[in-house]
Amino acid sequence: METVIALLAFIHSVTGYAVPDQFPQIVRASHEQIAGMIACPRSCEAFALYRDGVIYLDRTADVEGDVNARSILLHELTHWLQDANCAFCRVAAGQHRWRLREADAYQVQSRYLLAASGQHRHFARFADPEEVDALRAGPGHAVLAKAGSESYSRRD
Ligand SMILES: [Zn+2]
Repeated sequence: METVIALLAFIHSVTGYAVPDQFPQIVRASHEQIAGMIACPRSCEAFALYRDGVIYLDRTADVEGDVNARSILLHELTHWLQDANCAFCRVAAGQHRWRLREADAYQVQSRYLLAASGQHRHFARFADPEEVDALRAGPGHAVLAKAGSESYSRRD
């Protein structure tokens, strides 16, 4: 849990998202289970998944020892905090909101990798960062949003 607390504090420092009193539910799952949840075509690289307030993380992920695995947990925790803060509630559910959510999570992940290990990692650009910043700054409330909150991370 100490790792989760530290990661939530890091996300807060980047995004300003309020950290709720309760912890996220983190479920360790097999690769097959995670791949099945997102209905991957053929071989699937999914390593973690966020869905409806729950983080599913590959059973083999060494979040204590491997900074890349830890950054993937951080990415999924960012999605959890997005919902807890209703950060993208003003954007209609759909592809555009999904891209904004991913841009936000990948930006936090990039900053974490730089801070934690000096890695410069540039993830695919999903949306305009200024638009993400503007949405982050909006009023939030600590209610877990239900709809349209699904994403996953690959191990790469
Ligand atoms: Zn994501």
